Amino acid sequence: EMINLVAFLNFQINRLDKILETDPNDFFTADFTIIRNFPDNPVWVEIDTDKIAQVIDNIVNNAFKYSPNGGKITISVETREKDVLISISDQGMGIPKSALPKIFDRFYRVDNESRNSKVGGTGLGLSIVHDIVKMHGGTIFATSPGSGQGTTFSFTLPYLPENNDVASDDWDEFSEE
Ligand code: ATP
Ligand code: MG
Repeated sequence: EMINLVAFLNFQINRLDKILETDPNDFFTADFTIIRNFPDNPVWVEIDTDKIAQVIDNIVNNAFKYSPNGGKITISVETREKDVLISISDQGMGIPKSALPKIFDRFYRVDNESRNSKVGGTGLGLSIVHDIVKMHGGTIFATSPGSGQGTTFSFTLPYLPENNDVASDDWDEFSEE
């Protein structure tokens, strides 16, 4: 399905904002603010919207789960030459360098007394995210400056700037060169 990624992400985040606002079960013991860093123009991408919604959901849920002190969750969209880069950063507990290469493996969880003993999980979320991004022809990676300094997940989706120009206006000017 061809959709405007910016509108799609705004819709997903509005839904998350509503959950953060109401939170009837006090699931969130800390305060979170979601910050959007989006281009003004539409970004047309061909995606399976249910699957990419699942990707966003998994990454943002991890940000909530592994940020005991809350903080900002920043979601950015950057169009590049041949793809669009979507980044989701948190200010949580971070991921040790040694664990970074393993977090997309099935059932892998960073194990440390202070972290996973508190929050449950199967270790499957990110392996599913990885498969979905790959299925779309993109790549995914995580960076973390160190313990307690947050984590950034970045993934790409194929994007052709020239197709977006055509989609926006002036079909007359479009000709093969
Ligand atoms: P599930 O998602 O299946 O419920 P999970 O959250 O443990 O379980 P993944 O989402 O695959 O599994 O994440 C793997 C591990 O990577 C987590 O157990 C956690 O240790 C680490 N991790 C993932 N996201 C973050 C994050 N934003 N900050 C710190 N650690 C993270
Ligand atoms: Mg998870």
